[in-house]
Amino acid sequence: SDSLTMDAIQQWLHRFALEITTQADWLTELDSAIGDADHGTNMVRGTGAVVAKLNGGATGTVQELLKAVGMTLVSSVGGASGSLYGTFFLEMGRNSPSGEQLNASELEKALRAGVDGVVARGHAAVGDKTMVDALEPAVTALYQSLANGLRLHDSVAAAAAAATTGRDSTEPLVARKGRASYLGERSAGHIDPGAASSAILVAALAATVGE
Ligand code: ADP
Ligand code: MG
Ligand code: MG
Repeated sequence: SDSLTMDAIQQWLHRFALEITTQADWLTELDSAIGDADHGTNMVRGTGAVVAKLNGGATGTVQELLKAVGMTLVSSVGGASGSLYGTFFLEMGRNSPSGEQLNASELEKALRAGVDGVVARGHAAVGDKTMVDALEPAVTALYQSLANGLRLHDSVAAAAAAATTGRDSTEPLVARKGRASYLGERSAGHIDPGAASSAILVAALAATVGE
């Protein structure tokens, strides 16, 4: 379908949590190379808290749902990624219409606002070896695909492909933001863990809209 219902948004978040759990050891391994080896556990804790919140009965509007997700992530994750993912969902919610679904263009605008929120909060640009390297090209690909007349299903698939490419682009980079930047040149040669979890987030969206 060409819009995302409340049910679909919740499926997206459930799938994100499931995929994070499946890939937690890898995320922590990535963070052990250039950080403090907690990204997998941070994200498992955060997405687990989100699932618990949803199972507790998330009703209301898209705005309210996304705001609750953001607040849950901020308060449960800790670490840099908690406030950044939290900001992502809070800004997505703040920039969603107060209805019970998002059409393609509303989804694109909300995701764009989420990414802009991450950039405003963390001051990372593309190329700084952070989650922005996966998120920014994903939202750009979504925008361009929709502008080219593609269906939502194909547009989110393009976004997921761009996120994966963006994730992989972080490997040779020297980190300029976050804990990995303390390593300087030694941060090169490893995929950024936050870019990896962000690619999972976009892939989960593509898998949901594919249904
Ligand atoms: P911490 O570094 O506090 O242990 P995590 O390990 O959970 O937190 O998350 C690390 C990830 O957070 C990094 O891989 C990077 O993608 C992201 N990150 C850190 N600082 C920033 C920033 N300023 N802007 C965007 N993303 C950032
Ligand atoms: Mg860490
Ligand atoms: Mg940490």
